Amino acid sequence: MNDLIRPSRVAEVLCKFGLAPHKGLGQNFLVDAHALEKILAAADIRENELIVEIGPGLGTLTRELAKRARHVVAVEKDKKLTPVLAETLADYTNVQVIFQDALEMDWEDCLEGQAPPYKVVANLPYYVTTPLLMGLLESPVHFSRLVFLVQQEVAERIQAKADTPEYGALSLAVQYYAEVKVKAQIPPRAFFPPPRVSSAVVELTVRECPSAYFGLTDERVLFSLVRAAFGQRRKTLVNSLTAGGFLRSHVLRALDVCRILPSTRGEKLDLAAFIALAQTMTRLREEG
Ligand code: SAM
Repeated sequence: MNDLIRPSRVAEVLCKFGLAPHKGLGQNFLVDAHALEKILAAADIRENELIVEIGPGLGTLTRELAKRARHVVAVEKDKKLTPVLAETLADYTNVQVIFQDALEMDWEDCLEGQAPPYKVVANLPYYVTTPLLMGLLESPVHFSRLVFLVQQEVAERIQAKADTPEYGALSLAVQYYAEVKVKAQIPPRAFFPPPRVSSAVVELTVRECPSAYFGLTDERVLFSLVRAAFGQRRKTLVNSLTAGGFLRSHVLRALDVCRILPSTRGEKLDLAAFIALAQTMTRLREEG
């Protein structure tokens, strides 16, 4: 039994080391065995896998990852947790704790010499969810799966479909890189201290080569289109894309080829439509 999952034990450990949860670092420690199980079920760890954990905190989830995986690399920003993790992870010889800001990690460097497969499992500090998530998806290192506990609102944005209020550039980017599943809702009482909002376990199965999967020649064109379309969300596509630097004549031609009305707004287009548009724009650019 992992005693760190008990709220009384968390309070005891914090007290022993003279610490209090650091709000600015998003320290809401997991104190619910059911939520822990949901994360582990989504991660579906095999004994040959290397797991990266972001923000091990007191080591509660880390211990469970270490029991299941070949090796765990845990990246923690808060150096004050050094003695805590030295104690709580003392029995786990396959864990390496790196005290660094995960946003500044060079994942290729960090995992050099370590054989794949790699997965990431984390109860994420909410204030850095989006940049961390995008950094991992865009990394040259292929993480086959990302399992995150995130704010419910972020989970909704990640899995949103076209023409819904939650839909936007984040939904499109994540759905381009990965297949998204929201596995469970986790109430605030599962954490110490409880956050103000509910959370959700999100499972992302990352495509090995998304451009090949979608038959896309130049993914930079896709991301430029998405940025332009959602940078000025209320504008029609022809206006937002032209304002975003695309040639008006190419935009009008491409919209015609893709059978999209120029007066449509970007939020109406799903990923497949954005990909078709990107592919057509790329072809028009190449034709001059
Ligand atoms: N994994 C622990 C658990 O489930 O109880 C703690 C999760 S807590 C929500 C988030 C953790 O991420 C904290 O330990 C915090 O110090 C750490 N953290 C915050 N910002 C970070 C960053 N930029 N890089 C790495 N760790 C960070």
